[in-house]
Amino acid sequence: MDADQFRQAAHAVVEQKSLQTELPNSAPTHSEPWDAIQADYQNLVLPRMTDWSSPGFAAFFPSGTSYPSMLGEFLASSFAGSMFSWICSPAATELEEVVMDWVAEALDLPTSFYHNKPSSKGGGLIMSSASESVITAMAAARDRALEAIRLKDPTVATCSNWRQKEASNFVVFGSETTHSSVMKAAKVLNLQYVTVPAPYSNDFRMVREQLCQELESSISNGFIPVFVAVTLGTTSTCAFDDLEGIGKLLDDHPLIWGHVDAAYGGNALLLPEFKYLSPLLRPYASFTVNLNKGMSVTVDGSCLFIRDKFDLASSFTCYGSYLNPDKTIGGPQSLKIWFVLRSFGLEKLRETMRRGFQLGEEFANLLKDQQDLFEIISGPRLGVVAFRIKAPSSNGSSETLHERSNRLTLQVCQDVNASGQAFLTGCTIGDFYVIRMVTTHVSNSPASIRSILGLIIQAASRGENATCCKPSSV
Ligand SMILES: *Cc1c(COP(=O)(O)O)cnc(C)c1O
Repeated sequence: MDADQFRQAAHAVVEQKSLQTELPNSAPTHSEPWDAIQADYQNLVLPRMTDWSSPGFAAFFPSGTSYPSMLGEFLASSFAGSMFSWICSPAATELEEVVMDWVAEALDLPTSFYHNKPSSKGGGLIMSSASESVITAMAAARDRALEAIRLKDPTVATCSNWRQKEASNFVVFGSETTHSSVMKAAKVLNLQYVTVPAPYSNDFRMVREQLCQELESSISNGFIPVFVAVTLGTTSTCAFDDLEGIGKLLDDHPLIWGHVDAAYGGNALLLPEFKYLSPLLRPYASFTVNLNKGMSVTVDGSCLFIRDKFDLASSFTCYGSYLNPDKTIGGPQSLKIWFVLRSFGLEKLRETMRRGFQLGEEFANLLKDQQDLFEIISGPRLGVVAFRIKAPSSNGSSETLHERSNRLTLQVCQDVNASGQAFLTGCTIGDFYVIRMVTTHVSNSPASIRSILGLIIQAASRGENATCCKPSSV
């Protein structure tokens, strides 16, 4: 039995049946005792959950939790009620406004993103996800552009489908490394999406010049740009797009809605060393940060800050006669953010974040100690390192070294994940297949990143041997 046969056999031995085959097809007609429910939860559900708080978890971005956040969730779920308007529970709206202003201040956001500043028309809202944030912002952008067209020439609005007709020329811009939720939002809203290059030579960032080229070419082809998504901390390499340069471009194109997707990276604005980014946000109409990715808040903790709440209201308001149109909506989700901010205090949150970033530096240094085996493609940045395993120089196969390195990296990533001892994300970025190591998860520590590296090295040596023995047939 060789290693591959062993792996196959081992999978067959331990293979789990899915929950669908373990659970009955129908809900019980009569009440069941709690003991039975608890036992099934313990025996059937828990073992099938991926443990995001395991020290070996280094995939995706963190999705934190903490005792104060759990308490917030617990208490929030103790309210019966649907919070579709201020009148449903005034404290829900009011607490959300207070807490969102706390967050805006902690991140040093421009005053236009506050609820309660004299000159501000904006404010923050808690959303279920960054994906929901971006589709919300994009719908508001579309409607703002339609309204601008109608104001300029009221005759366009004479036929009943004028909105669809005008919007068919609208274009949304994002880069090659923009999160898929932006393209998905464009698809749902039936808007065209243009992909701006963000090549390796720019460290996978979208820069002003390249966006500018795409904008001009769209405009000269008769399209109307309405939305640009700028990312602070891309998902694959945590790259920061050219916030400043693109911001200046927005000043020349007032119809374009600039949205900053800082789902992960936005949390870093809590640290003094990242505060230089805050004033650069001024030309942007909206900004999203997921506190669940950096501040020990449980999902959902996505905050959408918007410069002009009127844009949202005009896009999303369809009031029934029984509602009060003067007040915005808030949910009890703000409880957990409130509890977290108060229980930890900003300084403690900063400390935790710095520790995660520091681990990223340490991990990158460990990779650099083995330059013959590893190649860092991007990072470390905010605890994210994207790297590749170097394949041995030649084994007579027809594949190039570059291709073999990509294939070996994919194989190592799959191997480590199959071990069940660690969980890494692999992804294609430009021409590279990389492993993305993320060191900001709750249980990552100097010991855990070393043991993950150990697993990677073991898998790499197994993979190299396999590559030598069986060239292109794998
Ligand atoms: C995680 C992430 C998203 C998606 O976040 P959800 O809250 O899961 O929708 C979007 N953009 C970036 C840059 C992200 O890191």
